[in-house]
Amino acid sequence: MTKQAISLFSKNNLILLLIALLGLILFFGSPLRKKKYAQEGQFYEQVYLESLKYKLTENKKDSIREQRTYVTKSQPKNVIFMIGDGMGLTQISAAEIMAEDSMALERFRHIGLSKTKSTKLITDSAAGATAMSTGQKTHNGVIAMTKELKPLKTILEYAEEASWVTGIVTTSTVTHATPASFYGHQPTRAKVNRQLAAQFMEHDIEVLMGGGINYFNDRDDQRDLLEEARERGYFVTEDVEQIGEYVPSKLLCLISTGQPKRLDIRGNFLPLATNKAIEVLAKPKTNFFLMVEGAQIDWAGHANNSDYIIEEMFDFDKAVAHALDFAEKDGNTLVLVTADHETGGYAINGWDKEKEKLKTEFTTGYHTGTMVPVFAYGPGAESFAGIYENTEIFYKLKHLMGLGNFQ
Ligand code: MG
Ligand code: ZN
Repeated sequence: MTKQAISLFSKNNLILLLIALLGLILFFGSPLRKKKYAQEGQFYEQVYLESLKYKLTENKKDSIREQRTYVTKSQPKNVIFMIGDGMGLTQISAAEIMAEDSMALERFRHIGLSKTKSTKLITDSAAGATAMSTGQKTHNGVIAMTKELKPLKTILEYAEEASWVTGIVTTSTVTHATPASFYGHQPTRAKVNRQLAAQFMEHDIEVLMGGGINYFNDRDDQRDLLEEARERGYFVTEDVEQIGEYVPSKLLCLISTGQPKRLDIRGNFLPLATNKAIEVLAKPKTNFFLMVEGAQIDWAGHANNSDYIIEEMFDFDKAVAHALDFAEKDGNTLVLVTADHETGGYAINGWDKEKEKLKTEFTTGYHTGTMVPVFAYGPGAESFAGIYENTEIFYKLKHLMGLGNFQ
């Protein structure tokens, strides 16, 4: 090295070199940062939905509401969609206060609020489930049909069409408003259990668990739908515990004639059924969509029975724990937990020292118009933060699941 070269590294030059380097970092660093922010801005995709323009008939009379859907670009392999029928914030709060350990619901980090109105301010469970399963507000009592009574394809039917395997688990009859709104299409929910059972058989839904065996094998049309299901490869049983370790490829588990009973009779059905359904549906090469309903939180609200509400909340929360455990292990499953509406106008007013339980009150024997929480875990969970119409849940799910195009 020459003396000149060495002098380049003299003290003065070294300082100049450092200043130049700092300048370079500042010059190139800021555009890099800008780019990063821009990418974060794109994290949420905004989707404008023509179909989400709808007219409210009862409140805000002449305003046409428009909605934009925000979803992340994540794509979950599987979706477990859990509905606590009638599960408002007070139902959750009461269970949280009474629980010995923290609840599974407390494991969620992405939480939103869903507006529950149907074409009426106070929804019923048919219109509430239809909003979430089809993206359309409809009249109370209508199962997966428009206000003009045209059938609407449900998220489960979109999934089936795209070769996802699908399942339904509930603590009501499988033909009750909530589960039926995922596979059935009826202008009214009343007295159509047997028609709905037949509509179930028109699909190839891999798992169906709940009550209402009589709607399948005690029919005027003389069809034995249980026999038909067996012929089509379903494992048919009346007891979830009887299935044991066996993992059939298709499962029809109907535990009761008419509605399943309360917890003391039906036992651990819901958490066990949720686990078994996941076992049947989870396969390496296929996607699955599972709907799980805690149906009797609503019935407890209608009965204005706080103990019954808390009992049903604990049961539902156990099912949520199983879904979350699976999703954590799997790493590619979206778990959603929400409600169709609140039931009872349930309130916590203090602690009754003598009875050693919550002092509670109810404002109604029917549903209320309060918003309900939406809990989300897994790929796409961020999409469910915020306040939005219940119909949004359908569009968010459909988009995240990559099922069909928007608009
Ligand atoms: Mg229900
Ligand atoms: Zn109800």
